[in-house]
Amino acid sequence: VSGRAAELAANLDRLRERIARACAAAGRDPAEVTVVAVTKTWPADDIRRLVALGVRNIGENRDQEARGKVAELADLDVRWHFVGRLQRNKCRSVAGYASLVHSVDRPRLVAALNRAAEAADRVVPVLVQVGFDPTPGRGGTAPADVADLAAAVAAAERLRLSGLMTVAPPTDDPDAVFARLAELAHAVAAAHPGADVISAGMSADLESAVRHGATHVRIGSALLGHRSAPVG
Ligand SMILES: *Cc1c(COP(=O)(O)O)cnc(C)c1O
Repeated sequence: VSGRAAELAANLDRLRERIARACAAAGRDPAEVTVVAVTKTWPADDIRRLVALGVRNIGENRDQEARGKVAELADLDVRWHFVGRLQRNKCRSVAGYASLVHSVDRPRLVAALNRAAEAADRVVPVLVQVGFDPTPGRGGTAPADVADLAAAVAAAERLRLSGLMTVAPPTDDPDAVFARLAELAHAVAAAHPGADVISAGMSADLESAVRHGATHVRIGSALLGHRSAPVG
């Protein structure tokens, strides 16, 4: 076992312990919370090590990096999550490998991703990303526009509306953000049965996300260590 494999195993143990505690405090079953290991900037070998440890869900935020890893790791049983800002000209590529796209935040993306899914002869599960940060460029649709965007995804033949995602603004109280997300998510699930995924929580705020019903937590640094350079 390499030093890196041992380090990842120890980090994964600590992460599972945090999730177990958060679930116990919230009266939830840890089996309801899927860990998406966000491996951006880390090499494909780290993904191999995580898969060997039982991690099945891998998240990437840039298509160029993701598609290289997808090709290199074609022998592995990985569910790929696209969690970053999506450009329309990347939809063709992302629709080819993503098991879940977390970051649909505008109507034009719905049309582009739907066409791409059709070209790939796939049905692509999609989350609507909600932005609680009014700063432009942060990503996410305004809370007031979530219902319409969710309906557009649901109406797209090759997309499957699966729920909502957010990245809590760093300056906000995560409990307040995730509580608002949960309210929106309940409304979406009521209108669209089966759209019950709540992708919320990262390394710093997963306890709060679990408290507010997260079904998917997206974990980078707590598993892999600190990234050397900030990426998207
Ligand atoms: C990088 C990233 C994460 C993981 O962040 P950490 O704080 O390192 O856990 C989660 N979600 C998205 C969208 C990301 O880009």
